[in-house]
Amino acid sequence: MSDVVDNDTGEADGNGAPTDFIRDIVRADLAAGRHGGVVTRFPPEPNGYLHLGHAKSICLNFGIAQEFDGRCHLRFDDTNPAKEEQEFIEAIQRDVRWLGFDWGDHLHYASDYFAQLFAWAEGLIEAGKAYVDDLPVDEMRAYRGTVTEAGRNSPFRDRDVAENLDLFRRMKAGEFPDGARVLRAKIDMASGNMNMRDPVLYRILHSAHPRTGTAWCIYPNYDFAHGQSDAIEAITHSLCTLEFADHRPLYEWLLENIAVPSQPKQYEFSRLNLSHTVLSKRRLTQLVDEGRVDGWDDPRMPTVSGMRRRGVPAAAVRDFISRLAITRNDGQVEMAMLEHCIREQLNVAAPRRMAVLRPLKVVIENYPEGKSEALVAQNHPGNPDMGTREIPFGREIYVERDDFMEDPPRKFFRLGPGREVRLRYAYFITCNEVIKDASGEVVELRCSYDPETKGGNAPDGRKVKGTIHWVSAQHAVPSEVRLYESLFNSEEVPGGDDFLDDINPNSLEVLPQVWLEPALAELSVGQTVQFERMGYFCADLSSKEDALVFNRALGLRDSWAKIKGKS
Ligand code: ATP
Ligand code: MG
Repeated sequence: MSDVVDNDTGEADGNGAPTDFIRDIVRADLAAGRHGGVVTRFPPEPNGYLHLGHAKSICLNFGIAQEFDGRCHLRFDDTNPAKEEQEFIEAIQRDVRWLGFDWGDHLHYASDYFAQLFAWAEGLIEAGKAYVDDLPVDEMRAYRGTVTEAGRNSPFRDRDVAENLDLFRRMKAGEFPDGARVLRAKIDMASGNMNMRDPVLYRILHSAHPRTGTAWCIYPNYDFAHGQSDAIEAITHSLCTLEFADHRPLYEWLLENIAVPSQPKQYEFSRLNLSHTVLSKRRLTQLVDEGRVDGWDDPRMPTVSGMRRRGVPAAAVRDFISRLAITRNDGQVEMAMLEHCIREQLNVAAPRRMAVLRPLKVVIENYPEGKSEALVAQNHPGNPDMGTREIPFGREIYVERDDFMEDPPRKFFRLGPGREVRLRYAYFITCNEVIKDASGEVVELRCSYDPETKGGNAPDGRKVKGTIHWVSAQHAVPSEVRLYESLFNSEEVPGGDDFLDDINPNSLEVLPQVWLEPALAELSVGQTVQFERMGYFCADLSSKEDALVFNRALGLRDSWAKIKGKS
């Protein structure tokens, strides 16, 4: 668990000023007067939805800007139109906002800089620091060498400036097909760092772009666009994950060799890896495209939109991220820790309601036919400020199938033949008779109630050990409920395409006929409540007035607290 800070204070969003090696650098830079203020950016490629790994980067970049009175830009790294879409651009903005961050006027796109980047590329050519290469892809790869063997110069490396300029402009003019030529930086084919072996800066791609349309048929790649965009926006600290550490020399080489308006610095930190799931856009895309899940916002997905649809509060995600160490050590964080953070938020914030997931009918024989009454229930037993509500009670109710056993063991304190239990906020009832269908399945219980126990206490002081939840059959509102389990079986999901074999076939269970207390019909989409004794549930966006759908955000048992307790 190298990747977790031990600041489990139980407080939302952590407490005190967070600190880590990046914040130390920022603090030192500001103290030394190296920058007027801190400027960071979050630079997603709009080729998918954001996941919890991105949330780590978002909280870091926007968090630092907030803490040091600076600003954070949202910049789309939209340099590969083959995979990028407007839908993703919109979803990313929605998700960053939902997480609670604001980029103000600083919504930017690398594509806004295409003209400037092209001019800078021409400048490199004029300075003899870039050339057009005609080698086919596979030959270029062979010329590149290996980690143990130096590369060789391309036969096109020594083209003169005029020819390079002419070819590059003709690439832009659309004279050549995809892949026919590339523009490369002229650095060092013998460099120990593969990224410095004359890296590609531009490629030909006849593909319409979501923002620039067909204006361009050559596109800069990540390395050429990223650092220069940082420089244009006067980013001071360019924070990225460790896989870009090997790109840093190239990032710096480009900034040195181009007349950029500012000199940002790149710092790398370790990515978030989470147990029982995958945090890779490529693999998440595969789950969506192959229909393994119900879209990017499927509540089983580790995406920001999946969290939202599942009923997870944004504050729980921020709290979770705040407990992660910002270091250069790779590690895996347990899903149970995320769930612990979600539970901590919901336990405080979620109103309590009653719903019966797997109904068993109970007829209270001594309760007058046709009568019903309103009983008072607390919205949150731990927080009187959340008020009370009325719940209707009647002669026929539903209870949870699991709350009855025909032949219960001694420690089962719920319903059984001849046993008495408390109905939450209502009365004591005793089970007198069990009714079965032809196959022997229990279909109904006949009970009697004690009218003296209204509200759940007996005036004679007699105790019952069990309290169960219920809903009035006459007033109950039907709903579908979706129970979600982990999408993958393994704690560490296997790499490669094997990850598909690790999918948990039982990750979704649909309960078609759940009964809700009437107050639940008034919930708005996205609101999360606790179904007493059953877990946290959220009204799904597919809910319609006559066909409600609830998602289970989480059960009530906290396995992380146990893990922490043991260590
Ligand atoms: P993936 O690896 O899932 O394909 P990506 O890195 O290609 O994601 P980008 O849109 O390029 O996705 O990422 C935007 C920013 O988010 C980058 O700065 C990247 O370093 C950061 N990021 C991506 N994944 C993680 C992660 N698991 N943990 C922390 N930061 C991440
Ligand atoms: Mg990336």
